[in-house]
Amino acid sequence: MPANPYLLCVLTLSLVPASQAAAVRKALIVDGQNNHAWKDTTPVLKKALEDSGLFRVEVATSPPSRGDMSSFRPSFSGHDVVVLNYNGEDWPPETQKAFVEYVRSGGGLVIVHAADNSFPEWKEFNQMIGLGGWGNRDEKWGPYVRFRDGQFVRDTKPGRAGSHGKQQPYQVRVRDRRHPITAGLPEVWMHAPDELYDSLRGPAENMTVLATAFSDPATGGAGEHEPALMVIRYGKGRVFHTILGHGPEAMRCVGFIVTYQRGTEWAATGKVTQKVPKDFPTADRVSVRE
Ligand code: ZN
Repeated sequence: MPANPYLLCVLTLSLVPASQAAAVRKALIVDGQNNHAWKDTTPVLKKALEDSGLFRVEVATSPPSRGDMSSFRPSFSGHDVVVLNYNGEDWPPETQKAFVEYVRSGGGLVIVHAADNSFPEWKEFNQMIGLGGWGNRDEKWGPYVRFRDGQFVRDTKPGRAGSHGKQQPYQVRVRDRRHPITAGLPEVWMHAPDELYDSLRGPAENMTVLATAFSDPATGGAGEHEPALMVIRYGKGRVFHTILGHGPEAMRCVGFIVTYQRGTEWAATGKVTQKVPKDFPTADRVSVRE
């Protein structure tokens, strides 16, 4: 006698942990223009979310530079979280409006590395990302935010926004160990060779810096403890902003992968259910995955 197919089905379903079965969220990665290797990094970003077992991931790719952007209208509202791997031309006004409405009404947003160079003239976008760089941003966009003498300070001195020294491994230091994204991580961990953005500026409203990194003047940095991981509240929406992730090599860092996975879950749901893996880097040892 063959096994009862109905019974088999019930048994199979019961083997899926309830937490996993209930938690599949919809993520949308937006790319298509970037002065970085977006065709190489989007698959890495997509795989990291899928590997967490928490996300079903779609990708919306814009027309190329100087292409016809008028019909680019991704369905933001059909997703729990949007990951921006985009640094390019302005979207059409209808798409901008839908994006603002999506985040304001509670949508999650993740800003990866050069996505914070995007849209310098878009006021709501600057509010969402907290801090940004390049694109002629300067003191009119807001302060520099740095960690000095045990606290965060807003430095309003005039100057350009956005710079980085030579790529190298560097330590990331958690400054808020209670936030769901950083809870349980080592206080200090060594990030694989990457750019360390410094001197970003922006409104920095409703923003909490979760981790900083010291931008070393010896390798062309600013000599300041710079925001590396941030969260921003925008309306009912949650934004996670990581300055890490210049390219696929930097994204192999377990510190990048884990903070990105946790940050995306938090942006989507307000919670983090993922455990810190055993291969997480230590204060003086880089850890990368193939
Ligand atoms: Zn870069």
